[in-house]
Amino acid sequence: MGLLDGKTALIFGLANERSIAWGITQAFHREGAKLGISYAGEIFKRRVLPLAEKVNCNWVEECDVTSDEQITAVAKKAGKDFKGIDVLVHSIAFAGREELDGPYYNTSREGFKQAMDISVYSFVALARAFQPILNPGASLMCLTYYGSVKVAPHYNVMGVAKAALESSTRYLAYDFGPQKIRVNAISAGPIRTLAAAGIGGFRDMYKHFAEISPMRENVTSDDVGNAAVFLASDLSTRITGEVLYIDSGFNIMGVQMVSSES
Ligand code: NAP
Repeated sequence: MGLLDGKTALIFGLANERSIAWGITQAFHREGAKLGISYAGEIFKRRVLPLAEKVNCNWVEECDVTSDEQITAVAKKAGKDFKGIDVLVHSIAFAGREELDGPYYNTSREGFKQAMDISVYSFVALARAFQPILNPGASLMCLTYYGSVKVAPHYNVMGVAKAALESSTRYLAYDFGPQKIRVNAISAGPIRTLAAAGIGGFRDMYKHFAEISPMRENVTSDDVGNAAVFLASDLSTRITGEVLYIDSGFNIMGVQMVSSES
């Protein structure tokens, strides 16, 4: 018996086996979900198809979330191929590399718009497009990071985008509540992925995190996958509009000290 038996889950944002979306996909598969996967560009299809095969998923659709047409098309296809959707995961973010280094005040107008469009608005657009085919009790979730509430040097416009994403999560939770559909965010600690590689100083941040988080360890995509199973399952039925931290406790720290006992 899996926690997600009988549920259909769509995952947006799988790029490769290091993606957080892959940790989530594997955990959903383990728990018995029927899966659909969406990826961004043609060049990533090559990487995504073999991964999809590993989890017996033959529903693999391209969707660049900057395109309303592609979002509409993927929702239409899902409506045709599945008997309603129970879980939708948004694991997508983008900001130009030049925006993720140096002072935040250097953020360009175009860079700001692009980060907001791909990393925030796309969650709203996906929620709207899929609304007609979401089953009662469905669960939507997105991925965020602590740089939304506190300054994480270099994270810059992405921190501002994550703040907007978390706020969007609350507004969507309010809108979807009457349909008994839940909307939550998972705030993950740093994980070495393709997207993370573009953030200035990421390696130092990653190391620092393991030294000062209460549990003295980094988190993995598998940890995030397990939390996503909880949010996707009926175990979290009355939880909506929340930001769930999967971060070895890092966010509770006020004063940060490297402990000699660790
Ligand atoms: P990732 O593997 O690089 O995933 C990012 C995904 O966003 C990729 O699949 C990427 O597709 C997709 N994407 C970018 N532009 C897109 C577009 N226009 N349309 C559709 N998809 C697009 O990195 P990740 O770290 O797993 O990131 C997943 C989520 O977790 C992001 O929201 C990220 O901010 C969040 N997060 C990451 C960390 C971390 O430390 N890694 C921590 C907390 C939260 P392409 O690569 O094909 O463009």
